[in-house]
Amino acid sequence: MTARRKTVIIGSGIIGVSLAYVLARRGNDDVVVLDSEDDVARGVTSLGSGGYRVQFTSAEEVALTVRTIAAWQELEERHHVSLGFHRGGYLTLGSTDRAIETMRGAVDMQRAQGAEVDLVEGDALAGIVPGMTVDDVPVAAFSAGDGWGHPPTIARLLRGLATDAGAQFRYGTTVTDVLQTGGRVTGVTTASRLGTDMLAADVVVNAAGLGSPKVAERAGVPLQLGMWRQHQFRTALVAGMHDTAFPCVLDPVHDLYLRPDGDSVLVGYAEAWDADRLDYEPNPIVSEHARERLAERWPDAAAEPFVRAWVGCYELTPDRRAYIGLAPELDGYAYSTGYSGHGLMNSMGAAESLADALDGAVPAVPLDTFDRRRFAGAETSLHARSDDAW
Ligand SMILES: Cc1cc2nc3c(=O)[nH]c(=O)nc-3n(C[C@H](O)[C@H](O)[C@H](O)COP(=O)(O)OP(=O)(O)OC[C@H]3O[C@@H](n4cnc5c(N)ncnc54)[C@H](O)[C@@H]3O)c2cc1C
Repeated sequence: MTARRKTVIIGSGIIGVSLAYVLARRGNDDVVVLDSEDDVARGVTSLGSGGYRVQFTSAEEVALTVRTIAAWQELEERHHVSLGFHRGGYLTLGSTDRAIETMRGAVDMQRAQGAEVDLVEGDALAGIVPGMTVDDVPVAAFSAGDGWGHPPTIARLLRGLATDAGAQFRYGTTVTDVLQTGGRVTGVTTASRLGTDMLAADVVVNAAGLGSPKVAERAGVPLQLGMWRQHQFRTALVAGMHDTAFPCVLDPVHDLYLRPDGDSVLVGYAEAWDADRLDYEPNPIVSEHARERLAERWPDAAAEPFVRAWVGCYELTPDRRAYIGLAPELDGYAYSTGYSGHGLMNSMGAAESLADALDGAVPAVPLDTFDRRRFAGAETSLHARSDDAW
């Protein structure tokens, strides 16, 4: 009998726990997840808005999300649990000619990937978002099966299921180095309040979120990653919210992300000049700008004060697509990071495809698009936002 593969996953956010769950369920690995924090989902996952959508402009990202949603549904049925999703739909407003052209092309591709997406306009569009000003929106893309959930709750449930399947989770444990001999991973060194230690491993996966560039550097397999700082606001109660089924709304022209939050509205907003730094302090100027833009799009929501403001930072790749794959230059080393604001929705699809690659199988979703070396030699920017950046 061959020995089980010892796999260390660095990071217990949604990406690390999803992979731990998939690997443990497959039964080939002895899985240990290490995290510096004292519990699951204390990193970027704790601050995410929880939205998921099948609307992307690359077939591979659509496929990751379609597979993620299917995996969640299958998991809920198999384990008789609820991950607590609100399936309120996802609406992307197309306001500029360029955005509309991209959207029309993308919807055909999304449908080909098995996603259910419709183009809506006029009264049909206004009926989906009553009270919003959409006269300037000739067409929007609506995926009724999409929605949102609470990322830490989902991560916690996945951790429980992964533990049941045999995975181990160690908290308060920081990976300080990735050990290697002759081009092959041999383990990691760690630091915790108990001191320093060494853990042998056949496979090490960098799922360390904002900490992943540092881990990558230690492994000698660098990642080109920037930072995006996004403001989030919650309004006071908005009249009528309780009786209306609002979807998540992406408004690229106003840089707004909007969705119901109970009887309030959750507003996501980022300004490029304020975005590129690791700083969790809300900026009052950004708050003012968000309010002005909200007033143009949704006067009823903007009439209510923001009762809470906070900032979430996430890692960013030049094309807003994650880095997922194996490193040919270091046998046994894999990475799954740089999710650029899409980590929850890509999570299970990414976990399955990376697990396929680790097993030496053809990944269910091809990972070439997510290879960390795709920008080699190209001039790239880690700051500019595009119409598909959300
Ligand atoms: C404001 C905001 C809104 C968002 N909205 C959405 C959304 O609507 N939909 C969506 O899909 N995504 C969204 N995202 C993005 C999503 O939350 C992230 O892509 C996702 O949570 C990333 O998960 P992760 O596991 O990669 O990272 P994390 O959750 O950060 O987990 C990484 C873990 O690695 C640990 N770690 C780091 N370095 C080390 C080390 N050396 N040793 C040990 N442990 C280490 C950290 O402690 C951390 O717990 C949003 C993000 C933000 C901030």
